[in-house]
Amino acid sequence: MANKVTVQKYSFTFGLWIVKAKKNHILQSRCTQPLKCDSINNEGTMTDDSTLCDFCLYEKELELPQLPEMTFPTNSIRLEHENGFGIEFNALEALKLVDSKNDVMKVAISEAWQESRLDDSKIKDVVKPFDWTYSSHYKGTLFGKTDLLSISPTEERIDVEKLKVKSKILFYQDLILFEDELADNGTAQLSVKMRIMPDSFFILLRYFLRVDHLLVRIIDTRLYYEEGTNYLLREHMTKENKIKDLTVSPALLNNPSELWDHLNTVSFEYEKIEFQN
Ligand SMILES: [Zn+2]
Repeated sequence: MANKVTVQKYSFTFGLWIVKAKKNHILQSRCTQPLKCDSINNEGTMTDDSTLCDFCLYEKELELPQLPEMTFPTNSIRLEHENGFGIEFNALEALKLVDSKNDVMKVAISEAWQESRLDDSKIKDVVKPFDWTYSSHYKGTLFGKTDLLSISPTEERIDVEKLKVKSKILFYQDLILFEDELADNGTAQLSVKMRIMPDSFFILLRYFLRVDHLLVRIIDTRLYYEEGTNYLLREHMTKENKIKDLTVSPALLNNPSELWDHLNTVSFEYEKIEFQN
């Protein structure tokens, strides 16, 4: 229970929306309330998952043999509409979409590291029988009265130029959902940022992967709302390049925001999430 005291909570009201952000420390490496969790698990009457500790909840919900070194189970950004629906961004739902059975990178990484004459034993530290890059095409979790929402493809785009214009920031949050250093061979990180301006808000969920000597990948989900409209724009994009095909300065390989413009687009999806205001 002591854990819960340290949760930092932030909220902000924007028209009919309430934004809530939560922050806390990383996932514990074992159960924090064995008596309680054991009795819940043994009775098998799982009526309320929230009574399990985070460690046991992750164990139960995920098939992944291993979690990112740093996983932040409490960290989340949640957008709630007055009419009872919304969207949330959290680590658990993102990790549910990670391939728990196949190492899709195995062949590529062996080849790349052989070319760079790296020690074979290094490969063994990284390569595991699941997607150890934790790549996830998570776009956020819709909740509540989702029947009031309709999602369709759209030609409309988030006005990036408008977002670049300096405007007053009323609320800002930047949270890490998980991070792994791939046994010192790169990084895999999922983060979510939000900013609220006087007449709009913007959320960026970003997965960033760098496997040294091999590749960089960015999977972005962008969510945008402008006051007076009855829809959110959601853009989901994957960009990726082999490091040997990039001509950028090595410093950029640590900077996804700068790197973004230099990468090839692998896939994209533009959606409009309409609702009854
Ligand atoms: Zn537990």
